[in-house]
Formats: sequence, structure tokens, C-alpha cells
Amino acid sequence: MHEMALAESMLELVENAAKRNGAARVTAVRLELGALSHVERDALSFCFDAVTKGGIANGAVLEIDATPGAAWCMPCGERVPLAQLGDPCPRCGGWQLTVVQGEEMRVKEIEIA
Ligand SMILES: [Zn+2]
Repeated sequence: MHEMALAESMLELVENAAKRNGAARVTAVRLELGALSHVERDALSFCFDAVTKGGIANGAVLEIDATPGAAWCMPCGERVPLAQLGDPCPRCGGWQLTVVQGEEMRVKEIEIA
């Protein structure tokens, strides 16, 4: 389950940001999660709760914003929406796609107290 590793690196980032801002507690973390990122939302939430237990972000709310997937299609010469990896181009049905958005996971903001 790679969500645990992701949750741990996320916590590190959150803790560093909290320290920099002199925060006593982190109350919420807002995350941007790409639709093509192979990350299970529920598993990530579960792991986040587990790794934050007893720390500065104990009980923090994890909000996840989904970023839609998009790819560049060579034959079409344009950017097309992509619902999931392995799908063909929705315009021409081709497979010459390069994913340009939707694989990222990024902490967007944290709320501190
Ligand atoms: Zn196409």
C-alpha cells in the first residue's frame, strides 16, 4: 500500500510548514489529487489519520480536491480530457497520448491554530 508512504511524506511537509509558521496545531490539510494518480482516496485518508496520530496534525481534517486528467494527443495536436490511464483519445480514438495533468499529488494549503 503506497498510500502509507505518501501520507508520511505529506505529514513531513505539513509539519515543516507548521513549524515555519510557528503553529501549535494543524487543523486541516487541503490536498490536490490527480484523477490519474493511482492513489486510493479512502486509503490515503486512513493512512493520514494513522500517521498524524499524536503529532501536531492530530485529528486534522484531510480535504481532497480531485484534479481531472488531461493528455496531449499527437494526431489531434491538442490537449484532450482523459478519464483514466489506458483510455484512448476521446476525439480520435488514438493512443498517442502524453499525460499532461492528473498524475500529481500536492498539498495546496494547511490550516493552523
Ligand atoms: Zn486524438
